[in-house]
Amino acid sequence: MTTTIIRAACPHDCPDTCALLVSVEKGVATKVRGDPEHPTTAGVLCTKVARYTERTYHPERLLYPLRRVGAKGEGRFERISWDEALETIAARLKEIAARNPQAILPYSYAGTMGLVQGDSMSARFFHKLGASRLDRTICASAGAAGIGYTLGAKVGMDIEQVQDAKVILIWGGNPIASNVHFWMRAQEARRRGAILVAIDPYRSLTAEKCNIHIAPLPGTDAALALGIMHILIRDDLLDHDYIARYTLGFDELRHRALEWPPVRVAQICGLPAGQIEHLAHLYGATARAGQPVAIRLNYGLQRVHGGGMAVRNVTCLPALVGAWRHAAGGVQLSASDSFPKDTPALQRPDLLPGAMPRMINMSTIGNDLVREASPGFGPRIEAIIVYNANPVAVAPESPKVAQGFAREDLFTVVLEHFQTDTADYADILLPATTQLEHADVHLSYGHLYMVANNPAIAAMGEAKPNTEIFRLLAARMGFDDACFADSDDDIASQAFNKADRRAAGFDWQELKLKGWRKLAIPDAPFAEGGFPTPSGKCEFHSARMLADGLDPLPSYIAPYESLASNPELGKRYPLAMISPPARNFLNSTFVNVQSLRSTEGEPHLELHPVDAAVRGIVSGDRVRIRNDRGAFTACARVTENTRPGLVVGLSIWWKKLASDGKNANELTSQRLTDMGRAPTFYDVLVEVEKTGMEE
Ligand code: SF4
Repeated sequence: MTTTIIRAACPHDCPDTCALLVSVEKGVATKVRGDPEHPTTAGVLCTKVARYTERTYHPERLLYPLRRVGAKGEGRFERISWDEALETIAARLKEIAARNPQAILPYSYAGTMGLVQGDSMSARFFHKLGASRLDRTICASAGAAGIGYTLGAKVGMDIEQVQDAKVILIWGGNPIASNVHFWMRAQEARRRGAILVAIDPYRSLTAEKCNIHIAPLPGTDAALALGIMHILIRDDLLDHDYIARYTLGFDELRHRALEWPPVRVAQICGLPAGQIEHLAHLYGATARAGQPVAIRLNYGLQRVHGGGMAVRNVTCLPALVGAWRHAAGGVQLSASDSFPKDTPALQRPDLLPGAMPRMINMSTIGNDLVREASPGFGPRIEAIIVYNANPVAVAPESPKVAQGFAREDLFTVVLEHFQTDTADYADILLPATTQLEHADVHLSYGHLYMVANNPAIAAMGEAKPNTEIFRLLAARMGFDDACFADSDDDIASQAFNKADRRAAGFDWQELKLKGWRKLAIPDAPFAEGGFPTPSGKCEFHSARMLADGLDPLPSYIAPYESLASNPELGKRYPLAMISPPARNFLNSTFVNVQSLRSTEGEPHLELHPVDAAVRGIVSGDRVRIRNDRGAFTACARVTENTRPGLVVGLSIWWKKLASDGKNANELTSQRLTDMGRAPTFYDVLVEVEKTGMEE
């Protein structure tokens, strides 16, 4: 039998953006593997995407447009034609838009990271309509703000160099589960003599395998970074030449950092002072010896009240020790701003009909869906179009989100592959194609390659690409601007600014054939400064922060909910809870893939033996986790992987696939971070009790 190999890209919300090779036989995708020639993928895929055909050919794929026939949330639908679906949607949107188009809200995030199927035709549609804009904050905007003030943008070291580092701090992430290709290089660095340090309140799979694990209390990473700065300055483990040439505000930073001796930091972080001393010396002395030191920062630490500041503080460290001088030194949170993405061409904000519409924060959708019209808020939300997102499972304070989606007068359209928790609330549910069925082009937030995705198979059933759905809707709405006729190939060819030296001469037709191409960025890009800040330097003191009403220097902002910051709440809810990604899920994607869910088993709550003993809990007990916002149940796992006072519920489960129909977001809050307007998923106090039922 003839096998055709199609070049593709992994679309999921993962820094690795793997280059894929899809085997197709008689129109059927039979295998998905990593491209062995792509330098970062190196022929390896995570367990989730290695089983991509199971997801694509899943018996529960949505194949036809559906109309709700049951109550909202019940998930009962009947099949309708595309014609009827599009006409129903267009008629309702026209009626609402005639009163006020800002009563219509798009809701999307990273269900696909593709620049075509993500937000291109959809953004054009909502711009032309004059709909409310969505503030896409759910994952990374606090960290983006913190690194933006300090380094100027989401830029950093090239992860392809990290095997040459001698010390690697893996801070706020679990790469074995969510950045496996970085982990492969970190392991190679270790084989070459590097010391790996995990900084994470939880002993994750990664932390278990590092040389050193440092477990600060959740939400205290900013203080830990200040303590490291204190020791580097006190013990003169600095690169004075780098500081003088390429940084701004060192004298002010020195005064600030000297207010943070290790004993003070130790008390806030719940760590031994000696451990902080050791960490700072390992980092500073290695750099001083002329060796590369790297920090792989991930998004865990920015999901708390002071999350933006935590990222800012950590991203100051490489400049203090001159780590940027080395290709294998510096810090990476995200590489996404390294790409000259041509957002105006893709999304056409010039189509906006009048004044800039209001912005609704996706992280407070629970409150905003039930908010009445007011002069401050604007019109009540009357219609929501959800694509590439599953807010009923993912957005914080889930009971309120579900309450909002249950509004009888809310017109809800959902574009999906499966009948998710959110799809159950749709009035019209539209079948979308998966990555194997459509074209796309990708940047990466973990490496520096543009990656092409060619369609490997025909669309399943009557599924359509997001672009085509919005193209058809635009036609029904009477939008006749030429950009609504752009094909997916046309859009992909507009993805990057060809005039920018980093993607000079970008040619979509060429990329489609070759599969991937690296940006033209020098090794050690900040060896001689040149940061994309207003000063061109690493800004220890930030005038922009001052202008934005923030402390212009690195500082510490305590969690909203911790025993230290809110002792009254702590009496009722003495345990901190975090809900980091389960290895076999990716946000809420893959939870309905049976083989992956079977590996995860069922929702678990990990708690320390000390906390378990006082509550009479043993492994296998069913426990109820609660606070004032809600409750969910899970199977207890008593383990020293957590620290006393911390419970961990690996996530994000579909609510309807959990035995009680709930997940950890029953307990998370809609409070926002210090900067970036992001959610505070890991800033949560809870109590845990045995339910009396054993597994
Ligand atoms: S989820 Fe990440 S590691 Fe897995 S295939 Fe996609 S990009 Fe690669």
